[in-house]
Amino acid sequence: RVLAIGEVIVEIMATSLGRGFSEPIALVGPFPSGAPTIFIDQVARLGVPASMVGAVGNDDFGLLLRERLACDGVDIVGLRSIQHAATGSAFVRYRPDGDRDFVFNIHDSAAARVVLDEKTRSVIAQCHHVHIMGSSLFSPQMVSVIQAAVDDVKKRGGSVSFDPNGRKEMLDKPGMRDALMGFLAQTDLFLPSGEELTALTQAQDEAGALAELLDLGISAVVIKRGGAGASYCDRQTRIDVPGLKVNEIDPTGAGDCFGATFVACWLTGRIPEECLRLANASGAMAVTRRGPMEGTASMVELEAFLATRMIEMN
Ligand code: ADP
Repeated sequence: RVLAIGEVIVEIMATSLGRGFSEPIALVGPFPSGAPTIFIDQVARLGVPASMVGAVGNDDFGLLLRERLACDGVDIVGLRSIQHAATGSAFVRYRPDGDRDFVFNIHDSAAARVVLDEKTRSVIAQCHHVHIMGSSLFSPQMVSVIQAAVDDVKKRGGSVSFDPNGRKEMLDKPGMRDALMGFLAQTDLFLPSGEELTALTQAQDEAGALAELLDLGISAVVIKRGGAGASYCDRQTRIDVPGLKVNEIDPTGAGDCFGATFVACWLTGRIPEECLRLANASGAMAVTRRGPMEGTASMVELEAFLATRMIEMN
């Protein structure tokens, strides 16, 4: 059983390209979102037991999130509904160059109110793998709940995966680099982008960074490269896959779907080549749908998608 802990939020997107939200524009949403939320939904879509620890408000957005996760098969016993707190949200607008502007309401929302109570402890106790998202380490409270889960799962012989997911600015927050490095030392499977890989280490290039990370005791590093594909590296093996050609509608959520599919396949005993091939397909499928969690897929859908690609290539 896989556990994700962190922000369960809705995302509301601008329907036009441009900069920021300083004038009224058309929006579409709410879409279920939050990196750990997308991740755990994709794990459940693949039929692997999945639990979410997080919090939403007792409002329509919270209801939407609870219903969607439950409907996709995620265990939401550890998802608190908090009275008198609004569900977390993110407003997103794409710039013409592909960059994004965000307005976040997470830190002061229900999403930040994750606590290590009896219910949370009992959900953690049922899980054998914890996935950590860098975006969820936004407060000392979140860090301590995630740390408790990692300690508990590791003590029972379970495993940990970690995706720093692009929050480089977090490294400047007091204590955050130490928290990230502490988690890295307990990580079995690390899933950074190429940029994050070098930013988190002292190394000058990817090869040096990989050597540093594998020396920390990490079993395998999986590097996400957007439309250019992905790579898998452990002490013996290196595998590269090119990106699959797709019509990109919305890149948000690709890394989360990719990571979820890799982790789910890895935990169910597939060989690294297969994990990477299916994760690469999962990331590619994710970008073809508008909305961060709308591109999650079942194993049948992933296999069918890959089969169509093979036919197109021949
Ligand atoms: P993140 O969302 O964490 O930045 P990426 O954008 O690198 O992650 O996407 C994760 C993975 O999803 C990539 O490594 C690739 O396998 C797949 N992917 C992402 N964008 C595309 C794209 N435009 N075309 C094909 N595959 C993609």
